Amino acid sequence: MVLKVEQLTKAFGGLTAVDNVDLDVKEGDIQAIIGPNGAGKSTFFNLISGFHPSTSGNISYKGESIEKMQPNKVAKLGIARTFQTTNLFEDATVMDNVIIGNRLRTKSGLWDAILRTKREQREEEESIQKAYESLEFIELSHLADAPIGSITQEQRKRVAFALALATNPKLVLLDEPAAGVNPDETDGLAYLIKKIAKSGITVCLIEHKMSMIMSLADRIMVLNQGKRIAEGTPEEIQHNQVVIEAYLGS
Ligand code: ADP
Ligand code: MG
Repeated sequence: MVLKVEQLTKAFGGLTAVDNVDLDVKEGDIQAIIGPNGAGKSTFFNLISGFHPSTSGNISYKGESIEKMQPNKVAKLGIARTFQTTNLFEDATVMDNVIIGNRLRTKSGLWDAILRTKREQREEEESIQKAYESLEFIELSHLADAPIGSITQEQRKRVAFALALATNPKLVLLDEPAAGVNPDETDGLAYLIKKIAKSGITVCLIEHKMSMIMSLADRIMVLNQGKRIAEGTPEEIQHNQVVIEAYLGS
């Protein structure tokens, strides 16, 4: 298992956002996480990526506990994520956004990300190279010099993928990548998610678009009010009575 989550719990005051959740993610799989708004899906990603400390439970990545690890450490280990809303630097180019984003994710603070020593120049060149490769991967290298403000919503979502890929991940956590994109433009994103998985990167995917989930996912976990109510193949989930009542039927 590339990712093993055991009895993971996160309480915000009196609210248990993630409640005793277990999940094993197999290397190379596309593991979907679905559930109604407020089910705890994004919080689950925040716990894995180190943005929130858990209340209890354990998370291990390739056999190593990543519990209580800082986000930049988790990123360096090979776990990258996208956010439900991606804040991009509106005045910068597509390419610069990927380079800056990469630094912000892997360095421990803003100054660390901005300051450069000679020693770090080689690292810098590598990160530019990696940013370019990531843009090629998402098939937007022709827009490398375009201002972020000039590209479409679907292209912005692709850039969010590039930000994640530029850190050299082995596992990516995608939080609602198709949200806010025209339904007729989601095929390109689905294609890219498949392409990411084919390149050997394990994918955890939160998404509301059921057709996308059912066609992409190897396995699906369903969360409801913080609790895991089901886990299985798309076929099993579609016919699960508890899931239909809590989520799919609504
Ligand atoms: P989902 O992504 O499934 O829609 P979230 O993980 O964003 O759900 O939220 C789960 C619950 O946790 C919600 O009730 C939300 O209001 C609460 N929550 C999320 N983040 C915080 C936070 N930082 N502080 C307090 N409550 C939070
Ligand atoms: Mg969410």
